[in-house]
Amino acid sequence: DAKRRGKNTLSLFHSVMQENLMNRLKMESRMTDTLEKGLFQVFFQPQVDSITGDLKGFEALVRWFDTELGYISPDRFIPLAEESKIIIALGDWILDTVCRILASWRSELGFTGTVSVNISPVQLKCRDFTEKLKRTLDKYGIDPGAIEIEITEGILIDNFDQVIEILNVIKKMGMRISLDDFGTGYSSLSYLQFIPLDTLKIDKSFIANITRDGRIEYEITNAIVTLVNKLGLNTIAEGVETKEQMDVIRAINCRTVQGFYTGKPAPAIECERLIRSGGYSGVPR
Ligand code: C2E
Ligand code: MG
Ligand code: MG
Ligand code: MG
Repeated sequence: DAKRRGKNTLSLFHSVMQENLMNRLKMESRMTDTLEKGLFQVFFQPQVDSITGDLKGFEALVRWFDTELGYISPDRFIPLAEESKIIIALGDWILDTVCRILASWRSELGFTGTVSVNISPVQLKCRDFTEKLKRTLDKYGIDPGAIEIEITEGILIDNFDQVIEILNVIKKMGMRISLDDFGTGYSSLSYLQFIPLDTLKIDKSFIANITRDGRIEYEITNAIVTLVNKLGLNTIAEGVETKEQMDVIRAINCRTVQGFYTGKPAPAIECERLIRSGGYSGVPR
């Protein structure tokens, strides 16, 4: 009996593996096809001053609505795109698209905020990454200070010195650098002295538990925000969904929020009304 169960488990394991492999191959070929046809999209999510409600900028988030597979979340396809190196061409496309849209917002709507772009470690470590950045900014006449590069701590795992060097080049070019998902990785505070950071984004897993009394997430977030404010960096609370979370964020003096409460990621055209009005007339309280 145990033997049979073992066998069934094994064949189940095989079929899962096979399906995964098939899914992966399928997804890879669909990704390539979608990229070639220019059918990926970039959505933008507002980043808002927690006190004044002013619009500070947006985070660019890639979207894939596949004609065959339906909606696929970037949490699923970005890792595959990294493994297969499709991320390099996809990342180029995202950067180009973001700069093109940002240029039109600047010239047509007088937008002066920033746009944050997520950069995969595979992309960043690519030999000509910084030259590509420069070329794309030049192509659209973008002020480097309008672009914020988002990285995660994982980028520092290997080639620490090389990565720091690349980040310093990016910083010298005048771009901003943001540390994403802070608190989920190794989160050594000692990193903060090596990375030429402008912004630290507190991961949404902290924000999700911030309103419950006595929760460690509250204490940690409060301590990090206090420290980061002292260092003169910007802090963004990610994943703020409720008024209660918003109130805590404001009370602990975290100056920027990004979450469903102040706006879901949306196509560029839908962000234009927000840009025209400069933000919210006071953050909803
Ligand atoms: P991330 O960079 O940490 O992006 C924030 C994620 O949180 C986004 O998920 C966003 O839609 C979601 N989010 C924002 N506000 C809320 C909220 O109030 N509640 C909840 N539950 N979620 C919220 P998304 O767009 O699915 O992206 C997931 C991850 O995929 C990103 O995490 C990032 O790591 C990666 N990603 C997305 N776009 C790109 C891209 O253009 N390039 C690269 N390399 N990675 C990307
Ligand atoms: Mg991000
Ligand atoms: Mg994040
Ligand atoms: Mg993330």
